[in-house]
Amino acid sequence: MEIWHPFTQHGLEEPIVKIETSYDEFLITPDGKKIIDGISSWWVNTIGHRNPYISKAIQKQAEKLHQIIFAGFTHEPALDVAKNLSEFLPKNYTHIFFSDSGSTSVEVALKMAVGYHHNNGSIERSKVVAMEHSYHGDTFGGMSSGARSVFNEPYKKMLFEVERIPYPAPGRENETIDTYRKLLQKEGNKIGAIILEPLVLGSGGMFFYEPFVLEELYKISKEYGVIFCLDEVMTGFGRTGTMFAFNQTNIIPDIICLSKGLTGGSIPLAATVCTKEIYDAFLSKDKAKMFFHSSSYTANPIACAAANANLEIWKKNNILADVKRINDFYKTQIGRIQKLGGKNVRTLGDIFAFEVQTNGNDYVSNIGVKLYEYYRKNGVLLRPLGNTVYIMPPYCIKEESLKKIFDVIEDSLKECL
Ligand SMILES: *Cc1c(COP(=O)(O)O)cnc(C)c1O
Repeated sequence: MEIWHPFTQHGLEEPIVKIETSYDEFLITPDGKKIIDGISSWWVNTIGHRNPYISKAIQKQAEKLHQIIFAGFTHEPALDVAKNLSEFLPKNYTHIFFSDSGSTSVEVALKMAVGYHHNNGSIERSKVVAMEHSYHGDTFGGMSSGARSVFNEPYKKMLFEVERIPYPAPGRENETIDTYRKLLQKEGNKIGAIILEPLVLGSGGMFFYEPFVLEELYKISKEYGVIFCLDEVMTGFGRTGTMFAFNQTNIIPDIICLSKGLTGGSIPLAATVCTKEIYDAFLSKDKAKMFFHSSSYTANPIACAAANANLEIWKKNNILADVKRINDFYKTQIGRIQKLGGKNVRTLGDIFAFEVQTNGNDYVSNIGVKLYEYYRKNGVLLRPLGNTVYIMPPYCIKEESLKKIFDVIEDSLKECL
């Protein structure tokens, strides 16, 4: 049996790189070659690969308890995650629901939001609003909420209908806000939830937008009783320069989805956190009102131990100072990339992005593949989204490695375009 890799067209015979070990910002091949992980291994790794403190916590937990049923049972690592995470969140978040991936944390959020209305007697309110270019995972709820594209074309007819608001491009924020207001004026009684990637549309192409847009959309949501969900799966744990992206706003979303950085990038775990209002809609003596959702490995103790170690690291160290250090470095590179022909050069927290000029500009255009190959051959892992080149490294990355990434990007723009 051979392995079928994700987001891989094996027909193109793209090479599959074997990795034996890793540390900090480096992936090491069996023959000892170092690759700089410029995208945090698909955005999961925050504080560096194989963090020793997290490794030790995993080891220690593995000696005690691997996995138990989480319905009717609990364990210390899960209780600790609830406690540790709440230290980083406003007091309004009274409950945490565990799952295993970003996608499932989104499914949970949508089911919570729609179930909230259902249990409160508004069974009509099952429609979801999402943003153009958004990405919320590859399960059906995630795909439905995400942008329709070549990614989900074969499944188009199976996806549930979602109301779209436009991406609030700089200078065009009012269009988004007005569209949302008009939508709720027209059929607010059918809309149950809005789900958004805060401040950055990641997979859609690293599109940034302003915090005030979230504040306005939140205000309108509250007027119409729409549950406001933020998908912080990518933005959580420092990516945008604050612990969570919503920390750059004055809002307290009803539901937040977390996953990628929750264990520092070591083991899969996800959490959907919600306010008391959401939880209370399911609290009853009536079994039919309970939250009907679970996955077998919910709140796996080893994953929870990894999350706790990660959260302790966040408590004891000024991780955001590292994000700022990286961002300060990015700012010195903006002019350089512009001179090389980079378009729309932008940076937010740990993210640096720009477009290269091509004729077409979608994910399947060849320039991304060509650049990816170039970077890989030169010891850097960067995986352009179509013609969008972006960097999103682990926060422990050394200046030397950042410099190397930008040098390789410079060479790529001279040689591949
Ligand atoms: C990656 C991502 C997801 C999906 O997470 P998985 O762990 O891959 O299922 C959902 N939402 C956003 C914003 C993401 O970046």
